[in-house]
Amino acid sequence: MKTQTFISKSKYLNGLQCDKLLWYYYNAKDEIPETDAAKQAIFDQGHIVGEFAKKLFPDGLEVAEGIVDFKQVIEHSMELIKHRKPLFEAAFMFDNGYARADILNPVGKKQWDIIEVKSSTQVKDINLHDLALQWYTYSGAGLDLRKCHLMHINNQYVRSGDVDPKQLFATEDVTERVMELLPEIKKNLKGMRDVIAQKKVPNVPIGPHCSDPYDCAMTEVCWKFLPEHNPTTLYYAKAAMKFLLIE
Ligand code: SF4
Repeated sequence: MKTQTFISKSKYLNGLQCDKLLWYYYNAKDEIPETDAAKQAIFDQGHIVGEFAKKLFPDGLEVAEGIVDFKQVIEHSMELIKHRKPLFEAAFMFDNGYARADILNPVGKKQWDIIEVKSSTQVKDINLHDLALQWYTYSGAGLDLRKCHLMHINNQYVRSGDVDPKQLFATEDVTERVMELLPEIKKNLKGMRDVIAQKKVPNVPIGPHCSDPYDCAMTEVCWKFLPEHNPTTLYYAKAAMKFLLIE
Protein backbone atom coordinates (compact mmCIF):
# COMPACT_ATOMS: atom_id res chain seq x y z
CA MET A 1 0.00 0.00 0.00
CA LYS A 2 1.27 3.48 -0.81
CA THR A 3 2.21 5.39 2.37
CA GLN A 4 -0.07 8.31 1.44
CA THR A 5 -3.19 6.18 0.87
CA PHE A 6 -6.15 7.76 2.57
CA ILE A 7 -9.80 6.87 2.32
CA SER A 8 -12.13 9.79 1.68
CA LYS A 9 -15.76 9.53 2.65
CA SER A 10 -16.87 8.95 -0.96
CA LYS A 11 -14.36 6.11 -1.30
CA TYR A 12 -15.42 4.74 2.09
CA LEU A 13 -19.01 4.56 0.82
CA ASN A 14 -17.77 2.92 -2.41
CA GLY A 15 -15.92 0.40 -0.25
CA LEU A 16 -19.05 -0.40 1.75
CA GLN A 17 -20.85 -1.08 -1.53
CA CYS A 18 -18.21 -3.26 -3.20
CA ASP A 19 -14.55 -4.31 -2.67
CA LYS A 20 -14.01 -4.49 -6.42
CA LEU A 21 -15.18 -0.92 -6.98
CA LEU A 22 -12.91 0.33 -4.19
CA TRP A 23 -9.92 -1.58 -5.62
CA TYR A 24 -10.44 -0.05 -9.07
CA TYR A 25 -10.51 3.48 -7.69
CA TYR A 26 -7.07 3.03 -6.14
CA ASN A 27 -5.37 0.64 -8.56
CA ALA A 28 -6.92 1.08 -12.03
CA LYS A 29 -8.88 4.31 -11.99
CA ASP A 30 -8.39 4.80 -15.74
CA GLU A 31 -10.52 1.72 -16.36
CA ILE A 32 -13.57 3.17 -14.61
CA PRO A 33 -15.97 4.60 -17.22
CA GLU A 34 -16.45 8.35 -17.11
CA THR A 35 -19.44 9.82 -15.30
CA ASP A 36 -22.39 10.00 -17.67
CA ALA A 37 -24.61 13.06 -18.13
CA ALA A 38 -27.40 11.74 -15.89
CA LYS A 39 -25.05 11.15 -12.95
CA GLN A 40 -23.33 14.48 -13.53
CA ALA A 41 -26.75 16.19 -13.38
CA ILE A 42 -27.34 14.57 -9.96
CA PHE A 43 -23.93 15.83 -8.73
CA ASP A 44 -24.72 19.31 -10.03
CA GLN A 45 -28.09 19.28 -8.29
CA GLY A 46 -26.38 18.33 -5.03
CA HIS A 47 -23.99 21.24 -5.43
CA ILE A 48 -26.86 23.72 -5.98
CA VAL A 49 -28.68 22.40 -2.89
CA GLY A 50 -25.45 22.73 -0.89
CA GLU A 51 -25.17 26.38 -1.88
CA PHE A 52 -28.72 27.05 -0.62
CA ALA A 53 -27.83 25.41 2.70
CA LYS A 54 -24.83 27.70 3.14
CA LYS A 55 -27.16 30.71 3.01
CA LEU A 56 -28.49 29.62 6.40
CA PHE A 57 -25.03 30.33 7.84
CA PRO A 58 -24.23 33.83 6.56
CA ASP A 59 -21.06 34.19 8.64
CA GLY A 60 -19.72 30.83 7.43
CA LEU A 61 -16.19 30.48 6.07
CA GLU A 62 -15.20 28.52 2.96
CA VAL A 63 -12.22 26.38 3.92
CA ALA A 64 -11.09 24.84 0.65
CA GLU A 65 -11.71 27.69 -1.77
CA GLY A 66 -8.76 27.89 -4.18
CA ILE A 67 -6.85 25.09 -2.41
CA VAL A 68 -6.29 21.85 -4.30
CA ASP A 69 -3.81 20.00 -2.08
CA PHE A 70 -5.65 18.01 0.58
CA LYS A 71 -2.93 18.51 3.20
CA GLN A 72 -3.23 22.26 2.81
CA VAL A 73 -7.01 21.98 3.21
CA ILE A 74 -6.44 20.15 6.51
CA GLU A 75 -3.93 22.77 7.68
CA HIS A 76 -6.31 25.57 6.72
CA SER A 77 -9.16 23.81 8.56
CA MET A 78 -7.04 23.57 11.72
CA GLU A 79 -6.34 27.27 11.43
CA LEU A 80 -9.96 28.31 10.82
CA ILE A 81 -11.50 26.32 13.68
CA LYS A 82 -9.92 28.90 16.00
CA HIS A 83 -12.37 31.52 14.65
CA ARG A 84 -15.42 29.63 16.04
CA LYS A 85 -17.51 30.29 12.94
CA PRO A 86 -19.45 27.86 10.73
CA LEU A 87 -17.01 26.17 8.35
CA PHE A 88 -17.87 24.85 4.90
CA GLU A 89 -15.93 21.78 3.71
CA ALA A 90 -13.53 21.68 6.65
CA ALA A 91 -11.28 18.61 6.28
CA PHE A 92 -9.66 16.34 8.85
CA MET A 93 -7.78 13.07 8.68
CA PHE A 94 -7.46 10.27 11.21
CA ASP A 95 -6.52 6.59 10.90
CA ASN A 96 -6.22 7.06 7.10
CA GLY A 97 -9.85 8.24 6.96
CA TYR A 98 -10.31 11.66 5.35
CA ALA A 99 -13.58 13.57 5.58
CA ARG A 100 -14.89 17.00 4.73
CA ALA A 101 -18.06 18.15 6.44
CA ASP A 102 -20.57 20.12 4.40
CA ILE A 103 -21.00 22.35 7.44
CA LEU A 104 -19.23 22.29 10.79
CA ASN A 105 -21.16 24.52 13.16
CA PRO A 106 -19.69 25.84 16.44
CA VAL A 107 -21.71 25.19 19.61
CA GLY A 108 -20.90 26.92 22.89
CA LYS A 109 -17.26 27.61 23.65
CA LYS A 110 -15.58 24.53 22.24
CA GLN A 111 -17.99 22.04 20.71
CA TRP A 112 -19.08 21.47 17.12
CA ASP A 113 -22.09 20.02 15.31
CA ILE A 114 -21.66 18.22 11.99
CA ILE A 115 -24.31 19.06 9.37
CA GLU A 116 -24.53 16.98 6.22
CA VAL A 117 -26.65 18.39 3.37
CA LYS A 118 -28.48 16.08 0.97
CA SER A 119 -30.75 16.75 -1.99
CA SER A 120 -33.01 13.80 -1.07
CA THR A 121 -36.23 14.20 0.90
CA GLN A 122 -35.40 11.76 3.69
CA VAL A 123 -32.55 10.26 5.68
CA LYS A 124 -31.07 7.16 4.02
CA ASP A 125 -28.94 4.49 5.68
CA ILE A 126 -25.96 5.40 3.51
CA ASN A 127 -26.11 8.98 4.84
CA LEU A 128 -25.64 7.60 8.37
CA HIS A 129 -22.49 5.70 7.29
CA ASP A 130 -21.25 8.92 5.70
CA LEU A 131 -21.77 10.81 8.97
CA ALA A 132 -20.27 8.00 11.05
CA LEU A 133 -17.00 8.27 9.11
CA GLN A 134 -17.06 12.04 9.59
CA TRP A 135 -17.61 11.68 13.34
CA TYR A 136 -14.81 9.08 13.63
CA THR A 137 -12.41 11.25 11.66
CA TYR A 138 -13.12 14.61 13.32
CA SER A 139 -13.21 13.28 16.86
CA GLY A 140 -10.03 11.30 16.18
CA ALA A 141 -8.41 14.50 14.92
CA GLY A 142 -9.25 16.19 18.21
CA LEU A 143 -12.55 18.00 17.66
CA ASP A 144 -15.06 18.00 20.52
CA LEU A 145 -18.32 17.01 18.79
CA ARG A 146 -21.83 17.41 20.21
CA LYS A 147 -24.34 16.23 17.58
CA CYS A 148 -24.71 15.44 13.92
CA HIS A 149 -27.63 16.48 11.76
CA LEU A 150 -28.84 15.61 8.32
CA MET A 151 -30.33 18.52 6.42
CA HIS A 152 -32.49 17.30 3.53
CA ILE A 153 -35.13 18.76 1.26
CA ASN A 154 -38.45 19.52 2.98
CA ASN A 155 -41.02 17.80 0.75
CA GLN A 156 -43.80 20.01 2.20
CA TYR A 157 -42.19 23.18 0.91
CA VAL A 158 -44.03 24.91 -1.93
CA ARG A 159 -41.94 27.56 -3.59
CA SER A 160 -43.43 30.98 -4.10
CA GLY A 161 -41.00 33.43 -5.69
CA ASP A 162 -37.35 33.07 -4.72
CA VAL A 163 -36.27 29.90 -2.95
CA ASP A 164 -36.45 30.34 0.83
CA PRO A 165 -33.58 28.27 2.29
CA LYS A 166 -35.26 28.28 5.71
CA GLN A 167 -38.27 26.46 4.33
CA LEU A 168 -36.43 24.46 1.70
CA PHE A 169 -34.73 22.24 4.27
CA ALA A 170 -35.81 19.89 7.04
CA THR A 171 -33.15 19.05 9.61
CA GLU A 172 -33.02 15.79 11.56
CA ASP A 173 -30.84 14.99 14.55
CA VAL A 174 -29.33 11.59 13.67
CA THR A 175 -26.68 11.47 16.41
CA GLU A 176 -27.97 8.32 18.10
CA ARG A 177 -28.26 6.37 14.84
CA VAL A 178 -24.75 7.44 13.82
CA MET A 179 -23.31 6.42 17.21
CA GLU A 180 -24.54 2.86 16.58
CA LEU A 181 -22.31 2.68 13.49
CA LEU A 182 -19.16 4.09 15.08
CA PRO A 183 -17.77 0.76 16.39
CA GLU A 184 -17.59 -0.52 12.77
CA ILE A 185 -15.48 2.28 11.36
CA LYS A 186 -12.01 1.23 12.50
CA LYS A 187 -12.54 -2.33 11.30
CA ASN A 188 -14.01 -1.15 7.99
CA LEU A 189 -11.09 1.18 7.29
CA LYS A 190 -8.61 -1.60 8.04
CA GLY A 191 -10.52 -3.98 5.71
CA MET A 192 -10.57 -1.37 2.96
CA ARG A 193 -6.83 -0.69 3.27
CA ASP A 194 -6.28 -4.45 2.88
CA VAL A 195 -8.48 -4.53 -0.23
CA ILE A 196 -6.64 -1.56 -1.76
CA ALA A 197 -3.29 -3.26 -1.12
CA GLN A 198 -4.25 -6.46 -2.95
CA LYS A 199 -2.21 -7.15 -6.09
CA LYS A 200 -5.20 -8.51 -8.01
CA VAL A 201 -8.72 -7.21 -8.39
CA PRO A 202 -11.07 -8.86 -5.83
CA ASN A 203 -13.39 -11.42 -7.34
CA VAL A 204 -16.85 -9.99 -6.61
CA PRO A 205 -19.82 -11.37 -8.56
CA ILE A 206 -22.43 -8.95 -9.87
CA GLY A 207 -25.64 -8.71 -7.87
CA PRO A 208 -28.15 -6.35 -6.25
CA HIS A 209 -25.30 -4.41 -4.64
CA CYS A 210 -24.37 -3.08 -8.13
CA SER A 211 -27.23 -0.59 -7.84
CA ASP A 212 -27.65 -0.34 -4.07
CA PRO A 213 -27.23 2.22 -2.64
CA TYR A 214 -25.84 3.77 -5.83
CA ASP A 215 -25.68 2.76 -9.49
CA CYS A 216 -22.08 1.58 -9.66
CA ALA A 217 -19.71 3.36 -12.05
CA MET A 218 -18.32 -0.06 -13.11
CA THR A 219 -21.64 -1.55 -14.21
CA GLU A 220 -20.94 -1.45 -17.94
CA VAL A 221 -17.61 -3.22 -17.32
CA CYS A 222 -18.74 -5.92 -14.88
CA TRP A 223 -22.05 -6.63 -16.60
CA LYS A 224 -20.83 -6.58 -20.20
CA PHE A 225 -20.64 -10.40 -20.45
CA LEU A 226 -24.44 -10.59 -20.18
CA PRO A 227 -26.56 -10.61 -23.38
CA GLU A 228 -28.78 -7.57 -23.88
CA HIS A 229 -31.86 -9.53 -22.78
CA ASN A 230 -31.12 -11.65 -19.70
CA PRO A 231 -32.85 -12.74 -16.48
CA THR A 232 -31.99 -9.45 -14.78
CA THR A 233 -33.54 -7.29 -17.49
CA LEU A 234 -36.60 -9.56 -17.41
CA TYR A 235 -36.77 -9.14 -13.62
CA TYR A 236 -36.58 -5.35 -13.89
CA ALA A 237 -39.12 -5.30 -16.74
CA LYS A 238 -41.55 -7.31 -14.58
CA ALA A 239 -40.94 -5.06 -11.60
CA ALA A 240 -41.56 -1.95 -13.73
CA MET A 241 -44.77 -3.48 -15.15
CA LYS A 242 -46.04 -4.33 -11.66
CA PHE A 243 -45.26 -0.79 -10.49
CA LEU A 244 -47.16 0.72 -13.43
CA LEU A 245 -50.19 -1.50 -12.89
CA ILE A 246 -50.35 -0.68 -9.19
CA GLU A 247 -49.91 3.02 -9.86
S1 SF4 B 1 -20.68 -3.37 -11.01
FE1 SF4 B 1 -21.14 -4.57 -9.19
S2 SF4 B 1 -19.50 -6.10 -9.01
FE2 SF4 B 1 -18.80 -4.52 -10.45
S3 SF4 B 1 -17.61 -3.09 -9.19
FE3 SF4 B 1 -19.70 -2.32 -9.29
S4 SF4 B 1 -20.77 -3.12 -7.51
FE4 SF4 B 1 -18.88 -4.32 -7.79
